Amino acid sequence: MTSAGRSRRPLLRRPASRGLAALAVAGALTGCQVTIGDKDTADPSPPPPPNSGTGGPSGPDTAGDRYVPGDGNGGYDVQHYKLKLAITPGGAKELDGTAEITATATERLSRFNLDLTGLDVAEVTVDGAPAQQQRQGSELIVSPAKALEKNAKFTVSVRYSGTPQPVVDPILGRYGWIRTSDGVFVACQPSGAHTWFPSNDHPSDKATFDFEVTVPAGLTAVANGEPTSNVPSGDGSATPGDGPDIIPAAASRRAVTTSWRVKDPMATYLATVTVGRFGVKTGKTPGGIPIISAVDPSVPAVRLDAFHAKNAEVTDELVKLFGPFPFTSTGGIVDNAAVDFALETQNRPVYSALGSDQTIIAHELAHQWFGDSVSVTKWQDIWLNEGFATYAEWIWSERVGNETLQAKFDGLYADAGNRELWNVPPGNPGRANMFGRSVYDRGGMTLHALRKKVGDEKFFEILKTWAKERRHSSGTTPQFVQVAERVSGQRLDTFFDAWLFKRGRPAL
Ligand SMILES: [Zn+2]
Repeated sequence: MTSAGRSRRPLLRRPASRGLAALAVAGALTGCQVTIGDKDTADPSPPPPPNSGTGGPSGPDTAGDRYVPGDGNGGYDVQHYKLKLAITPGGAKELDGTAEITATATERLSRFNLDLTGLDVAEVTVDGAPAQQQRQGSELIVSPAKALEKNAKFTVSVRYSGTPQPVVDPILGRYGWIRTSDGVFVACQPSGAHTWFPSNDHPSDKATFDFEVTVPAGLTAVANGEPTSNVPSGDGSATPGDGPDIIPAAASRRAVTTSWRVKDPMATYLATVTVGRFGVKTGKTPGGIPIISAVDPSVPAVRLDAFHAKNAEVTDELVKLFGPFPFTSTGGIVDNAAVDFALETQNRPVYSALGSDQTIIAHELAHQWFGDSVSVTKWQDIWLNEGFATYAEWIWSERVGNETLQAKFDGLYADAGNRELWNVPPGNPGRANMFGRSVYDRGGMTLHALRKKVGDEKFFEILKTWAKERRHSSGTTPQFVQVAERVSGQRLDTFFDAWLFKRGRPAL
């Protein structure tokens, strides 16, 4: 493990007072950046590709989210991604893939866009028939042989290859497809997914996934969901009957293919195929939730058994606070990546060697409810992810005998001159601050202030109701405010306005 990645990251966003845990979490946010110059520089209304026939209806080339101007597309809704990937870390081409995307046209389309940065596209078909393709910046423009009718279900298949490049953003840092000494660490919030698979890369279009990943002998690919094949492991175990078969990685002398299935809808940025030497452990939490943990044995001070047990404990405890676990399995991945952030990749967050302590685990696993199951519709509402996960982190900190929630709140509130906190409204932080301190800390403070206002019982009922009503879907800040008002029976618009949308420190 090297520390090169840390020095490469801009430290501006990270308050000096925050410890490593906060760093890692701040990085979780970092798992974020924006491919500036995607659509920013692309012609917003590209001309029809050659041979597409002139004109004809085309889907929008963006989801219209001003925080990530190039991301997402319109005119269709994806139901499923089937990604067949051969990954050769350090190879001339690290990735050779086929993406089979099943979607429904929401309007008549003679062409539509997918997001894809870099990589060579060899062939595109729509419903099995060859389609025209054109590249423009981070857009892959597809013109089917025959226009798609509104409400038609279709499958677009893209054969592609190349070496994905990390996203490097001057404000947000470096993330996405990150090479490690023995593989790749894949963490893509918010705009990195389309560096490794063609997609409708915006959380407003979630879909189920199948991964079929082939890696060289001795390596393991860990993705989201659950394996539907054996999983090679350098070390680890499975409880018989509780999970997939773990096979010794050393026993394989040939490339190994592992399949993973994600049965619940997932935002593209939460997808991972992290590859390396891993010990893998599977089983169930004491509360009965299937769990899969993977640890790179070269990461110092992290043991697979202890990490696995902590994931189980935190998951079960968060169920008591937030309601039923939203997904078919939990867990986590610790890799020797030179990044200083963790990310809440669905089912099992990814952690670097620099931070997987229990408060960070609480943060990332809380995201399984808030961010992963209930996703943002637009990135402006990112406090609905980060404020909630930060609050869970504070709850955990109090539980293990560190700072109490109230002391945390009071300490932050007392810092009246903190411009990062009080000058940036977390409900409308602006792109440059979408992973800034206000979204995290003032977001968490908003929840604590709400708790003081409505009482413990109503507060946790609000969180559970939000998680339940928006499960596997998405939500907005006004929708959350409505839930809080309905459950508490109080009018809260002035309260939320002061905490989320106004500059200046709210009165207590
Ligand atoms: Zn987070």
